[in-house]
Amino acid sequence: MRNRDVLRAWGRILSGRRPVLSIELTRECPLRCPGCYAYEDHHLGSAGLTLRQLSDYRGSDLVQRVLRLVDEHQPLHVSLVGGDPLVRYRELEQLLPELSRRRIHVHLVTSAFRRVPPEWSRLPQLTVVVSVDGLEPEHDARRKPATYERILKNIQGTPITVHCTITAQMMQRASYLEEFTAFWSAREEVQRIWFSTFTPQQGAADAEILSREQRAFVVRELLRLRQVYPRIAMRPELIDALGHPPKSPEECIFARTTLSLSADLTTRITPCQFGGSPDCSQCGCMATLALTAVGDYKILPGLAARHIFSVSELIGKGVIRLRSAPTPDTESPLEERNAA
Ligand code: SF4
Ligand code: SF4
Repeated sequence: MRNRDVLRAWGRILSGRRPVLSIELTRECPLRCPGCYAYEDHHLGSAGLTLRQLSDYRGSDLVQRVLRLVDEHQPLHVSLVGGDPLVRYRELEQLLPELSRRRIHVHLVTSAFRRVPPEWSRLPQLTVVVSVDGLEPEHDARRKPATYERILKNIQGTPITVHCTITAQMMQRASYLEEFTAFWSAREEVQRIWFSTFTPQQGAADAEILSREQRAFVVRELLRLRQVYPRIAMRPELIDALGHPPKSPEECIFARTTLSLSADLTTRITPCQFGGSPDCSQCGCMATLALTAVGDYKILPGLAARHIFSVSELIGKGVIRLRSAPTPDTESPLEERNAA
């Protein structure tokens, strides 16, 4: 994150806006990954609906509605997730250039189950993030039909970021993360590699959940690997943050700066993009950890960036109240009566 971006994000927070907008662009996905949080029963909270039951949009209706949302919220960064956003690749062909024209950074998170158009690499603010969960045997078992063979074909000619969610199953072999990193570092399309760890819901017992010892190993191993493989684009502070994620959504800068909307473009996903009741103490989301590391940054002895953030957020809430407070000309008849 550049200084200019931090200042712009700070400006958004002071004005009561959230600098990041995350949108589940579609409810559809051709994959059925075990442990996928988007299709969990409680993902959308008390709405009583699952993502697959939600109505979503397509065609120019979808494009115009997303652009309206963006113009309303004026985020600096938009994450397009799913389902798999590439299900709506025709709409993306209209939407992505429009977002680029608005100088908005976009992360498009996909399984690359279909071809990523090479022309998209000309859009300067776009990062195509391809989820690759492990080496070929484990990945293919989890993420068919987006197999290694298909991904390698579908990313030809397109720069991508590889994102791997580390699971307990990958920890059976000490060299696993290095084998993975070596494979993807050797591909010319891969600009950078990111790792997250699997984030469970509270009380869950998924086979993917890392033990405390495995998390500690991941921290040590990533700190080592980033020195050997420069495509691992994760600063040491970020990797360290894996060992001390936010204790709750209230402490999570990522959750507090991101507005997450589901496929009907109305339903809010709370408390963060995982929805439901995520176990913050085991959060391994890379974006969250990056902002945790920013929040830990000491501006002065005893004054961390998160303190400035909290004060700025309070100011922003005050600004919103002022904005929505009725002016004398717009007071409701009831308020006029009360005032009298
Ligand atoms: S590709 Fe993503 S949205 Fe689709 S099932 Fe897998 S994890 Fe879930
Ligand atoms: S699970 Fe992670 S991203 Fe979600 S609120 Fe907790 S710490 Fe933040």
